[in-house]
Amino acid sequence: MTSYKEFHRRSIEQPDAFWSEQAQLIDWHKPFDQVCDYSRPPFAKWFVGGQTNLCYNAVDRHAKTRPNDNALIFISTETDVEKVYSFAELQREVERMAAIYQSLGVKKGDRVLIYMPMIAEACFAILACARIGAIHSVVFGGFASGSLATRIDDAKPVLIVSSDAGMRGGKAVPYKHLLDDAINQAEHKPGKVLMVDRGLDKAFNKVEGRDVDYAALRSQFMDAQVPVTWVESSDPSYILYTSGTTGKPKGVQRDTGGYAVALASSIKHIYCGKPGETFFSTSDIGWVVGHSYIIYGPLIGGMATIMYEGTPIRPDAGIWWQIVEKYKVNVMFSAPTAARVLKKHDPAFLHKYDLSSLKHLFLAGEPLDQPTHEWIMGELKLPVIDNYWQTETGWPMLSTVRGVEDTKIKYGTPSFPVYGYDVRIFREDGSECDANEKGILGVVPPLPPGCLTTVWGDDERFVNTYFSLFKEPLVYSSYDWAIKDDEGYHFILGRTDDVINVAGHRLGTREIEEAVQGHPAVAEVAVVGVNDALKGQLPVAFAVVKDASKIATPELVAALEKEVMKRVDETLGAIARPGRVYFISGLPKTRSGKLLRRSIQALAEGRDPGDLTTIEDPTALEQIKAALSA
Ligand code: ATP
Ligand code: MG
Repeated sequence: MTSYKEFHRRSIEQPDAFWSEQAQLIDWHKPFDQVCDYSRPPFAKWFVGGQTNLCYNAVDRHAKTRPNDNALIFISTETDVEKVYSFAELQREVERMAAIYQSLGVKKGDRVLIYMPMIAEACFAILACARIGAIHSVVFGGFASGSLATRIDDAKPVLIVSSDAGMRGGKAVPYKHLLDDAINQAEHKPGKVLMVDRGLDKAFNKVEGRDVDYAALRSQFMDAQVPVTWVESSDPSYILYTSGTTGKPKGVQRDTGGYAVALASSIKHIYCGKPGETFFSTSDIGWVVGHSYIIYGPLIGGMATIMYEGTPIRPDAGIWWQIVEKYKVNVMFSAPTAARVLKKHDPAFLHKYDLSSLKHLFLAGEPLDQPTHEWIMGELKLPVIDNYWQTETGWPMLSTVRGVEDTKIKYGTPSFPVYGYDVRIFREDGSECDANEKGILGVVPPLPPGCLTTVWGDDERFVNTYFSLFKEPLVYSSYDWAIKDDEGYHFILGRTDDVINVAGHRLGTREIEEAVQGHPAVAEVAVVGVNDALKGQLPVAFAVVKDASKIATPELVAALEKEVMKRVDETLGAIARPGRVYFISGLPKTRSGKLLRRSIQALAEGRDPGDLTTIEDPTALEQIKAALSA
């Protein structure tokens, strides 16, 4: 068996040989003539001349050989619906949806915006675009009309697919009025709006001539056969906007062939999934994880995929594990924020069910702090793997690659560069850092298959945003701060905008958060740098405690604050000690579960919190304001 190091080296030194082997994992209608065309850096084209189709690879090819195997398992604990679709059934539903699209005039290259809750029809809607070569742009259901309007104007869809409402925590969350508002605000007007009526909002408004009903159209196309449209490998498959944690979201454009190959190979090598097995990703189709590891990745790999509408704690904190037991889930994918939520509940929920089918749990999206990593791995007694990546890359950049070698898992690190990524850590002048020296994580281009090929409609923004950090060399910048240890393990220290400069010492927010998190009373924490006349900046911490009785009196609060500070002193040194530790009951996060540090920092410095369109719970900011003024 080759070592992972060897495997990675080959992917960088002999990319053509390496990737043409990986390309055998998918079906091609017409074989490619060239593995990579990198004649116009930093733009890379993968599998030039090849023709394929994402929907064919995700559905049809399995429906041919294993028609009755599970493909899509839809579970809603919100509406108490559970429905399993075989590959053959999934193909039929996708063909019906594709026929509806065609009847509404959607053609290859047209954009279809999908603004939907986590229901099976959203999966059909996505795959139907791929089937006919239309470009989908999924917008997280629950974004308000302002966010939706900017995305409508950027993607200019001919059709929008939506639904009357989502459900969360037992309550219907109406979508349609938000969509109508967004269309009113937007300059671009879609020709048609296809409505999947769940019967959750009886009073939703229907616009004559524009809005059409999915169920009525579907009944006309029950026997529809819509052959796949073969597309060029480099034809765009979708547009997806980044989470908007740091400001205006960027419209990531993805190709077709490179993406299919990257996903197929990641299912095999990183996720160790096999045809016939089951993949459960707890993300949402509105995020990149949902695109790659709810819809396309597992299905391309011939696995069944679970689409779950609900929260991790309803009806109780055992629901995910109940699903794992019932459907014999083999691979699970979630976010550190979910692990921290579970940590606040009784660990007995993790032990109530038979989890023997589960091989790995992957966590991505935010730093997985060492204490949480150790805790969840100990409770579940299986490898928990930290995955580092971005909307831009579409699949992991840093991970252990256990399909190739069982390397040691270290807590708090996403480990090694994934094959295909020539990851290096750079100083601000563009030179490379030594081991254990902090710097900016970058990738020497060409970016591997699967990564963004450009910013939608804006090649210049692609180059300026991602490749212009240094004059020399040409490097893709992640805008994350990182360090590599002597054994080659990478640690993400925070975003480059979040570095705290205390009297000339540059500290990553993540480092301090990690230290605070190490206190047994703390469930979650955000650390931001606040202007300080003396030291330049001073770290300030906002911590959520596991048990509110620990902060029941001012004396207890003061004592806990001291203990937390002491903990930071002991782990990082007094230089990193937060000037204040505030205790609150929830942190402001984006809808995808990422900390909104820039808003917290703005409040702590007495500024306006800025653009809040992506915030999950605005009351969390009120708490911070209250804590600061107390
Ligand atoms: P925007 O780019 O619009 O500001 P965003 O960066 O939050 O939003 P995403 O692409 O969803 O949008 O998130 C990628 C970022 O999430 C990474 O750049 C990194 O900062 C963080 N991240 C993801 N996974 C990890 C991980 N395993 N460890 C540490 N940080 C992570
Ligand atoms: Mg980003």
